Amino acid sequence: MNKKQKIMLGRILASAVLLVGAVLVPATGAVRLAVFLVPYAVVGWDILWKAVRNIAHGQVFDENFLMALATVGAFFTGEYPEAVAVMLFYQVGELFQSYAVGRSRKSIASLMDIRPDYANIERDGTLVQVDPDEVAVGDAIVIKAGEKIPLDGVVLEGSSMVDTAALTGESLPRAVQPGDDVISGCINQSGLLRVQVTKAFGESTVAKILDLVENSSAKKAKAENFITKFARYYTPAVVIAALLLAVLPPLVLGGGWADWVHRALIFLVISCPCALVISVPLSFFGGIGGASKQGILVKGGNYLEVLARTETVVFDKTGTLTKGVFNVTVIHPDDCSEAQLLELAALAESYSDHPISRSLKEAYGKEFDASRVSGVEELSGRGVRAMVDGRQVCAGNDKLMEEIGVSWHPCHHVGTTVHVAVDGVYAGHIVISDEVKPDAAQAVAALKTQGVQKTVMLTGDAKAVGEAVAEQLGLDEVHTELLPADKVTQVEHLLTEKSQKGKLAFVGDGINDAPVLSRADIGIAMGAMGSDAAIEAADIVLMDDKPSKIATAIRIAKKTLRIVHQNIVFALAVKALVLVLGAAGVANMWEAVFADVGVSVLAILNAMRALKSKD
Ligand code: ADP
Ligand code: MG
Repeated sequence: MNKKQKIMLGRILASAVLLVGAVLVPATGAVRLAVFLVPYAVVGWDILWKAVRNIAHGQVFDENFLMALATVGAFFTGEYPEAVAVMLFYQVGELFQSYAVGRSRKSIASLMDIRPDYANIERDGTLVQVDPDEVAVGDAIVIKAGEKIPLDGVVLEGSSMVDTAALTGESLPRAVQPGDDVISGCINQSGLLRVQVTKAFGESTVAKILDLVENSSAKKAKAENFITKFARYYTPAVVIAALLLAVLPPLVLGGGWADWVHRALIFLVISCPCALVISVPLSFFGGIGGASKQGILVKGGNYLEVLARTETVVFDKTGTLTKGVFNVTVIHPDDCSEAQLLELAALAESYSDHPISRSLKEAYGKEFDASRVSGVEELSGRGVRAMVDGRQVCAGNDKLMEEIGVSWHPCHHVGTTVHVAVDGVYAGHIVISDEVKPDAAQAVAALKTQGVQKTVMLTGDAKAVGEAVAEQLGLDEVHTELLPADKVTQVEHLLTEKSQKGKLAFVGDGINDAPVLSRADIGIAMGAMGSDAAIEAADIVLMDDKPSKIATAIRIAKKTLRIVHQNIVFALAVKALVLVLGAAGVANMWEAVFADVGVSVLAILNAMRALKSKD
């Protein structure tokens, strides 16, 4: 509880004691009024003040106005204890609300905890702490045990266990040693690490995540927009209805003014829409927070709405369902040595970030003089073209070879074939193979239990490879040998094919599939392996690259929406019931207060469930 909330609690308690005292004091007339005005002022002065101030600003109809009108009215009709009690309970509800919102903010803030405060950098042989912003790419920083890793980089020296829980929800720490990548926001648990920084702070993983989370509330879900609009029309409508209720029946039926004014006041108390106004955004907020605890970053409440209705999930293959780490199976050179062919391919690929390129460089494993390679062109979905030692080298698939008019020959080994051509002459091929991610099959199966009707894989890889993976994972549909543009066409086709209600999600690593990510109803990107473009284009980012998190995300989205709907239906139903009873003269002021506060508290408690991401 913060200071403001503590003061409010103090006011509530003081007012409650004073109210009990006022009820016990046997005063009459003006003295009795004064005795009740004291607890009323203690607990409600700020509401009255806000109501007056809002009227001065031309914003008449808000909940402060409703409460002020109802309670001042009750004083006029002589219901002093009721007037104080209405204000008292209203403030209890408000306090509860601010506490609940504070709690969810805090758990989102615990994610914000990943923001590093400083980096240790070596200057003239001593360590100095500097702002992470001041560290340049290529600088070496030192991370002691227990410190947060401030910037993305590669380990130069030392080995340690790294806790990635804040980013990925993964509870097991990861072992790192020289040569491994580390990402900012993780905690270095055991050893001293010297790390060479690979990205400036503004570009670092942690800066990107914080940016995402901070902006996520800006994108409001439909249900949230509905509530805002609803409140705008609702309050004036209620005030007018109350006015009519106070005036019309006595005029038409004659007499009984006090009774109808009283009913109108009760009507006002009941109609306060706070339960809805606060609990709906709080639920979405909770859902986003709960997802982020699992390493799933959702860029806005609206995406939870779409995700909950997802019926088709389309996957990219490389890096999404498979690890994107290829092993070289065989090297078949035409008229050079195996080592020479691998060197040519690795050099040609040296400037690309494609998983195939990374793997070939890894297989080559040697340093080389960067000036040997120039004029690099990436041909997405096909391969690369580059000048190596003054010769033009093309490395890629069958399509690329056909495009440049080189006659190639197929390989009997199953796997992804990288053909190499030098100055338009075929030089041989390298067959590489990738493994499916350990949770991929389970991820596909889990989607079915979350109501996903169809799972599809799109890949630029060869037919044999694509179909083998699809079969192994139990996917419903597979389309192979696609260029990036063909993937967009396929997704568009699937979009027209599916039912009106169901939504389509595309999951990719963003290496040449960013256009598809934005074309789908909802784009999900692999955050760790994925490219920056993917994280930008996607609506949801999986920090740990695990496809099984998609089903988790859908489950959280469904739960959040269920809570939102429960709250809307429950609050409206109780309000409607008590409104009718109040207008009919059956419900009294006390019941009205309890109905209002009770509904708010229950709705808020229900909304807080969204924050719990487990179960
Ligand atoms: P996926 O659809 O599985 O993510 P891509 O669209 O990135 O795959 O690539 C499709 C195919 O194009 C690859 O299987 C490979 O044959 C070829 N290819 C793409 N990029 C490269 C590259 N850098 N080097 C060699 N071959 C490549
Ligand atoms: Mg890809």
